Amino acid sequence: MRSLLCAGVLCASALLTATAMAAEPLLLIHGGAGVAPGDLDAAGEARARAALQRALLAGHAQLLAGKSAVDAVTAAVTVLEDDPSFNAGRGAVFTHDGRNELDASIMDGRSGQAGAVAGLQTVKNPITLARAVMEKSPHVMMVGQGAEAFAAEQGIEQVDPAWFRTEHRWQQLQRALAEEAQQQAHADLETARYFGTVGAVARDRQGSLAAATSTGGMTNKRYGRVGDSPIIGAGTWADGRCAISGTGWGEFYIRTVAAHSICARMTYLGESPAQAGQAVINDQIPALGGDGGAIILSADGAAAAPFNTPGMYRGWIGADGVPHVAVFAGEQLPLPGQ
Ligand code: ASP
Repeated sequence: MRSLLCAGVLCASALLTATAMAAEPLLLIHGGAGVAPGDLDAAGEARARAALQRALLAGHAQLLAGKSAVDAVTAAVTVLEDDPSFNAGRGAVFTHDGRNELDASIMDGRSGQAGAVAGLQTVKNPITLARAVMEKSPHVMMVGQGAEAFAAEQGIEQVDPAWFRTEHRWQQLQRALAEEAQQQAHADLETARYFGTVGAVARDRQGSLAAATSTGGMTNKRYGRVGDSPIIGAGTWADGRCAISGTGWGEFYIRTVAAHSICARMTYLGESPAQAGQAVINDQIPALGGDGGAIILSADGAAAAPFNTPGMYRGWIGADGVPHVAVFAGEQLPLPGQ
């Protein structure tokens, strides 16, 4: 009947809308590249896997409720920030001076809007503040005390810096400092080992994409160092075609504009997420001396989770509502579209 009542362009647009409404919700997350089999005891590994599952279910619940991809990545990243297993929010790595300085960013692929924060010391969930920068300010990036003043203005939860401290990360800093003292070097390769950034990419029922990333950066960082995670295009990217969140040695992700490069390859070269991920994460970044991984989702629902380290906390959830997670390199994690 309806087809008799509409014609031409109107019918086509009604059909397109119906198709877009029918997109299958998808969510991919990571909890950082760089984890190696010897790094975790059985209890630590079980805690991390359980947290990944909780994050997937929290984000997927948003998508099932008809909420946006932005809501889904915010929910998933918030769970991971609150879990001390990961280098984001509580459990973040320490700076050279023994502080936790947090960075995060988020991008809405539908609107092209983005928000980012860096050098936070009191904001409990940096991703919430990055989202507020995107939605409640005319800016894209805020840092340090200014960003914290904006958090206070927006009523975003702030905590005593001790909230972020874990003994595990403190010991990592002590080891890094001892190694540094021995080597008399300002930045040694050991420092780069402690990854654990978190991120999420999602597609909602409308077919829109979003990406989010949150991190404590790298152990023993100093001089106000900021990595790729809060840099739009480097650690995070989303548009109408692709959503990417990276994790790894941030300086290399900035220099290769990694997240945007992956999306550009998919858009202009017609590469799949797996092909574009291979080119940037497994070829380009290691050729420069960097390492890490990424999660990649395309608007048509194909996904990839490349990495060039011994492991990467990762997982996804789709139509069956079952969270699939993996940690180490040898584990199979069949992804949508692969
Ligand atoms: N990319 C982060 C940074 O360089 C670190 C990580 O992914 O673990 O700050």
